[in-house]
Order: sequence, then C-alpha cells, then structure tokens
Amino acid sequence: MKYKSLKGFSDILGEDIALWQALEREINAIMRLYGYSEIRTPIVEPTELFTRSVGEATDVVGKEMYTFWDKGTPPESLALRPELTAPTARAYIQYEIAKQQQITKWYYVGQAFRYEQPQKGRSRQFHTCGVELLGAAGAKADTEVITLGYDLLKKIGINNFTLRINSLGNYEERTKYKQALVEYLSKYANDLSAESQRRIATNPLRVLDSKDSRDSEVIANSPSILDFLSTDSETHFSDLQECLQSSGVSFVVDNKLVRGLDYYTKTVFEFQTKSLGSQDALGGGGRYDNLISELGGTPTPATGFGFGLERLILAARLEQGLQFVPNKLDVYLVAMGEEAQKKIPAISHKIRLAGFSADYDLLNRSVKAQMKESNKKEARFAIIIGEQELKTNSVVLKNLETSEQKNISQEEILTEISC
Ligand code: AMP
Repeated sequence: MKYKSLKGFSDILGEDIALWQALEREINAIMRLYGYSEIRTPIVEPTELFTRSVGEATDVVGKEMYTFWDKGTPPESLALRPELTAPTARAYIQYEIAKQQQITKWYYVGQAFRYEQPQKGRSRQFHTCGVELLGAAGAKADTEVITLGYDLLKKIGINNFTLRINSLGNYEERTKYKQALVEYLSKYANDLSAESQRRIATNPLRVLDSKDSRDSEVIANSPSILDFLSTDSETHFSDLQECLQSSGVSFVVDNKLVRGLDYYTKTVFEFQTKSLGSQDALGGGGRYDNLISELGGTPTPATGFGFGLERLILAARLEQGLQFVPNKLDVYLVAMGEEAQKKIPAISHKIRLAGFSADYDLLNRSVKAQMKESNKKEARFAIIIGEQELKTNSVVLKNLETSEQKNISQEEILTEISC
C-alpha cells in the first residue's frame, strides 16, 4: 500500500463510528441540559494567537505546535490549533459578544493537533470537547463547568476517575510562588532529571507535573501554592469546595496540580483515571480571568475545560460504558428479474422519504444472494418483487423476525412496515 494515514493521525470507521456518534449524542444532550450552545471555529489560526495565550514556554506551543507559512505577501505564520480555548476567546472578542450578553456559555467538539510521540491515549491529531463559561467571576461558575464534566463522565459510564482541584491564585500570587519554587528547586537541582533542571528556568511550575521518579521526592517537599493565596483567592477556593460538596461531586485537593498552559488563574482541575496508563488525564481546565484582556478584549472573567474524546472512548470501553448499537435496517428490497430491478429504486425512495431505512442490491445479484444479504443486514422486512407482483402493483412483504410473509399492494407498504 503506497499511502497510509500519517503517524499519530487516525481514521475512524466501522463499529468505532457508532461509539463516536453515541458519545457526540451524549455531549450534545448534556450541553442542552446545562444551557451551552455550540461554537465551531477554524482549524487554522494565526500562530501568534497561541504564543500569546497558551504561552511560548509551554510544551504545547514551544515544542508541539504544527506551524507553517502561508502563501501571502508577506507570508503569515499559521498554526493548526493545538487547543480550542484560545480560538474561542478570539471569536468572543471578534464578535463583541460581551456587548450582547453578560454571560456566554459555549461548547465545542473538534480536532486539535500536537506534535507528540504517539502512544495509547496520545496522538498528533485528537478530538477535544470543551466548554467555556465567560462573564462570571464567582466559584459558582467553576462549580458549574466542573459538575458538567463530572456528569458527562458518569453519563457515558466512566466511574473510575478522580477529580483533582487546585488554585493557582492570581498573577501576583503566582509570581511570588514561582520565585519561592525556583529558589527551592535550584537548591535541589542536582537531584532532578535533566528535563526538570531545564524547566527551573523556562517553566518552573511544570516541574511539578513531572512523572520522572527522580523528581518525585523533591516535588513532594516543594512549597505549596495554597500558602501563597490572598484572602480573595482563598475564599474563592473554599467556596468552590463547598459548592462541589453540596452538589455531590467528589474531589481531592492536589496542591501540585498546575496544568500545562499559562493562562490559568485561581481554579484549575483535572479528571484523571488509572485505567489509561501514563496518559491519565481524561480532561481538565480552569479559570482564565486574564485571557480575554490579554488578547485585546474587555476584561472578562472566564472558566472552562477540555476533554480528550479518544481517551473518553478508551475509558468508556473499558468500563463497558458506551456500547456499539448497530442501526437496524427497516427494509431490504429483493428484485426478481430485470423489470423488477428497475422498479426497486422508486419504491425504496418512497420508503426512505417516509423516514424508514431501505437498501437493495446494486450488483444485479441472484435472488438467493439478495435474500442472504437481507438477513446479513438484519433487516426487519424484506420486500420481494417479481414479474407477477409488477403486473398487479403488489409486493411480497416478509417479516424477517417471524418469517411470516404476505402479498400486499404497493400502497400498503408504509402502513405495514410502520407496525
Ligand atoms: P490540555 O489542553 O492539554 O489540557 O488537553 C485537554 C485534554 O485533551 C487532555 O486532558 C487529554 O484528554 C486530551 N489530549 C491532550 N493532548 C492529547 C493528545 N496528544 N492525544 C490525545 N488526547 C490529548
């Protein structure tokens, strides 16, 4: 085979499609319950949108982003979106949504691209579903998005997960914390992995994310961001915990949870599972009160999350959550002879227009082969038309579940198959 899909880019087909469609149905249903409307943004955006928002020092932008120059004069640097919050924020500013409504609740489902080493639960093109709640600063808004994510996981049969929450404070608090962290990490730099040593200078918070066993002891004894919070951030965090508790959402506080992206303020959270090995994040998010203003919009508090759909499918499968339910065919039409072959497209067209699924042989195969096909497709009915039926404008209707068959007029088909 000469052409194959690229490494880290998957095709989705066959039985998997039924799972994906079932997942998308559940997503659409839960978003309706929570009052979120869909937004679809382009796959390509100016590179700068991501360098300014996600941050150049992050892996997502610094190492993993697919960028290219377009054919303009002068050429512009474009990027395949590595995540969907920044494009959504861009749209929020571009369409001046803040002037139209105080609260905006958006959700999206779409592809994202990161040049990562593919492995189970990690690919270069993946699908993400997320929500963004813009315009509300309180812990109630964080509670809403977290609860939505929690409910979605449960709805698709994923119970084996832990919700971790933390607060990163505001910019000043985090800056002070970073200083303390850099001081601490520098003291133990020789005990750290090379990657973490490098990160002390570039992105010290990310050291806390390290899964390298050489780093774990130093990380365990590192200063806690929670000791650097102002009263305002502290109250926000305790309100969040209270709201989650009273909503029946179980969580653990993890003061080492920092998440990879730069734009978070106060609340961050992650839904983690043990069932997927090292790629344990099913999804996560947090509050990003400065992002809209940093991208040139009116300051707008905001919060949201993103789930990885490939990981949701993997985890739901392991817990027998989403099931493959084949769509049953209503009618398979069987033609005996050339004249009947010609009549069949018109009859099936009528059946399909009435909202029933219909299928027939496109290869002029024998009646036996056609009957075999009707069984293979698990059709509810077979409609058989031969010369005799053509003369009398009738058909033979065979109920394939009971094997009963009878002769009916063509006008009666729809009434008979709707029973
Ligand atoms: P992030 O924006 O990094 O928080 O990613 C949001 C979610 O997308 C993660 O929790 C994962 O479930 C999923 N995800 C991120 N990167 C990948 C990837 N390379 N392959 C598959 N899923 C991913």
